Amino acid sequence: MIEKRDFYINGAWVPPLVANDCPVIDPSTEEVCAVISLGSAADADAAVAAAKAAFPAWASTPPAERLALVERFLAIYESRLDDMARAISLEMGAPIDMARASQATSGNWHIRNFITAFKSMEFIRPLGPHAPNDRIALEPIGVVGLITPWNWPMNQVSLKVTPALLAGCTMVLKPSEESPLSSLLWAEMMHEAGFPPGVFNLVNGDGAGVGARLSRHPDVEMISFTGSTRAGKAISLAAAETLKRVTLELGGKGANLIFADADDKAVERGVRHMFNNSGQSCNAPSRMLVERPVYDRAVEIARSVAESTRVGPASEPGKHIGPVVNKRQWDQIQGYIAKGIEEGARLVAGGLGLPDGMNKGFYVRPTVFADVKPGMTIEREEIFGPVLAMIPFDTEAEAVAIANDTPYGLTNYVQSQDGARRNRLARQLRSGMVEMNGQSRGAGSPFGGVKMSGRAREGGHWGIEEFLEVKAISGWDSTRD
Ligand code: NAD
Repeated sequence: MIEKRDFYINGAWVPPLVANDCPVIDPSTEEVCAVISLGSAADADAAVAAAKAAFPAWASTPPAERLALVERFLAIYESRLDDMARAISLEMGAPIDMARASQATSGNWHIRNFITAFKSMEFIRPLGPHAPNDRIALEPIGVVGLITPWNWPMNQVSLKVTPALLAGCTMVLKPSEESPLSSLLWAEMMHEAGFPPGVFNLVNGDGAGVGARLSRHPDVEMISFTGSTRAGKAISLAAAETLKRVTLELGGKGANLIFADADDKAVERGVRHMFNNSGQSCNAPSRMLVERPVYDRAVEIARSVAESTRVGPASEPGKHIGPVVNKRQWDQIQGYIAKGIEEGARLVAGGLGLPDGMNKGFYVRPTVFADVKPGMTIEREEIFGPVLAMIPFDTEAEAVAIANDTPYGLTNYVQSQDGARRNRLARQLRSGMVEMNGQSRGAGSPFGGVKMSGRAREGGHWGIEEFLEVKAISGWDSTRD
């Protein structure tokens, strides 16, 4: 077992240059479950130097060689899925069955989809028959800094590390200090897979330390970031000095438009989706917009789903939801619930305080507000907890206007049996993704948003292209292809 305080730099586990212990808190119990070290700027510099030294050789490997290593990594990852699920469950509170079924497995799902996309990509190709001596080459951007959050740790790490590896980039990963254990395990597997030293490096740390250093570092060509809009702005500003490419995957305030002709399960599905991962998903359908004739019935269904949603420790098997990640997040959610009540929304389930019978752990009562008005704080801001806002509407145009009147634009949802309406709305909703009638996006579909949700596109060939530069070449000797 590795020492959790160590970083993975240049193919070896190394202690921090300056000791700076940081406890990892199990959100189910509030107990310390591990101790990591927060790196300093000097640790970040050492990792960047290793990545820089490894770049020329890794960038010039034949694509098939990179693919073979990623495939070897995938096999190792799949053989250790249970360890991964346990690490995630412990560090951020996902119930163990859910951690097994979706948190850990999001990693291999993305890796597989990247492998498929990669196999069909051409890294050097003709511009067209009109310019026989032109070539378009796709080349790795260089050393990349990858900064990830705690809510879906392996989802986000796999969405960044895999395409960077396939593209031929070398990298420094800084996972969230709230959920470092899964990434330490990921690094162990990278080592076992046998990637050349310096290709993948991991330094734990916080945003102000390692995160800020990577964002400013002159040898880092790109930052790929997932997390809060606040940090996304700070990173963009810091990265401007060296004109890095910055890709941002930020928050959301998704609308779920439920029409009177929606299928019978649409409301229940929407509420459960909102509560999944204790509401800590950027694409959560947090605003449920319901057509007036079925609104009262929808509120009743939402109340009953919320009241029957069990809350419990992450280590327990079952379909309950776990705690939220930390005290700060818990306090913030309580603040939003109080604000909803104060601004006049109708509390129909859940509310302030810990669920009945609980006195420890960062547990939130599954909460539903009805009669939420556009413009209320709980309608505008991302809560990142199990709190649903329900809003009635009378016309399709009104629903679209409410859905689009948000600073965010990640995922919107539509529930209707009318195919023409669904297709119309899919084009009118301002977001990077639209999911309808409970159908999730297919393998290789790009994940990303517009407006304050950031403008990254992760997954499939779009996700690999984010790590590539396009080079235009003329005068190519086409007899020597
Ligand atoms: P955060 O943005 O503070 O942290 C995410 C990552 O960014 C972490 O690794 C953190 O160390 C790093 N970071 C923070 N500030 C940084 C900076 N100035 N420079 C470089 N790196 C920095 O998110 P959080 O505090 O973990 O959560 C706060 C809010 O972020 C949540 O309430 C939620 O709204 C949002 N969030 C969104 C997502 C998403 O997937 N869209 C994920 C997690 C959190």
